[in-house]
Amino acid sequence: MSDRQFDKITLIGIGLIGSSIARAVKNLGIAGSVTVSTRSQKTLDRARELELGTDYTLDAGEAVQDADLVIVSVPVGASGDVAREIAPHLKPGAIVTDVGSTKASVVAQMLPHMPKNVHFIPGHPLAGTEHSGPDAGFPELFRGRWCILTPVPGTDKAAKKKLTTFWETLGSKVDEMDTAHHDKVLAIVSHLPHIIAYNIVGTADDLETVTESEVIKYSASGFRDFTRLAASDPTMWRDVCLHNKEAILEMLARFSEDLAYLQRAIRWGDGEKLFDLFTRTRAIRRSIIDAGQDTAAPNFGRPADPSKG
Ligand code: NAP
Repeated sequence: MSDRQFDKITLIGIGLIGSSIARAVKNLGIAGSVTVSTRSQKTLDRARELELGTDYTLDAGEAVQDADLVIVSVPVGASGDVAREIAPHLKPGAIVTDVGSTKASVVAQMLPHMPKNVHFIPGHPLAGTEHSGPDAGFPELFRGRWCILTPVPGTDKAAKKKLTTFWETLGSKVDEMDTAHHDKVLAIVSHLPHIIAYNIVGTADDLETVTESEVIKYSASGFRDFTRLAASDPTMWRDVCLHNKEAILEMLARFSEDLAYLQRAIRWGDGEKLFDLFTRTRAIRRSIIDAGQDTAAPNFGRPADPSKG
């Protein structure tokens, strides 16, 4: 049990990320009260059934009244509308943060609405799964994962420290970078892999010479790992693509060039080039495991499925 850090926390959006925060906050006793607000009655009712907060309302403006910490966890394309709705009701001195997967766009959407007397500190926990909604969350989601803060110039040091301590209490390691750099880094480590996964699964689905039942039956030979990423929330990923367009297009251009190089090596039977690349990439996997960002257990630590041969 940790000490109370905030009298009132308000969560706007209570899907995978919002509900994981809610569960962790509840378990750790970080807040005196937790007000949950979301767009639909159905999700609000489910959040109440799951006892994710102490108070519940569909009215985001009402939800943020008297809150010391407001965390916005909605698709990035909706951040501007949420900021406009909550701005007039924020308490002076409140910390407002978000969890959006793109940062320059979120700042451009939210900052103009933020009153001068609140501390707006954008953030992004690098933690997630392919599931969404309030049932998908779990309190350990952030444990051992990075949370990147992208403070705007002039951010109050004490407010930043409070938010850093909050994420650390949830088990995260906290880093800081500017929005443009964040968006570039995330374009390569997260956005491009998802786009490639969506593309490869789409290609397999469109193939005429291989049947859909064969794709599913033999999926364990590599395809299955792409399908996990390609099962991610369509709304979230549509918004990520639309709101990190420049960085994603830049990385896609690099990716296409490198793919052409690989294609040429295969066409001309250049085994040396293939072997060199595959050796380099294997070392990167090793570094990720050494950094504690994945498990070295076979099959990514998935439990064995006796039904699969
Ligand atoms: P989620 O499970 O789909 O939940 C989304 C929440 O936002 C729900 O409460 C939903 O309300 C609400 N919402 C959806 N559209 C909205 C709109 N137009 N206006 C207002 N509220 C809206 O999503 P999530 O995975 O928690 O993602 C939330 C944020 O976290 C996104 O910005 C995403 O980029 C970021 N993020 C996600 C991951 C991940 O792996 N999933 C990781 C890190 C960061 P209703 O259900 O009531 O409609």
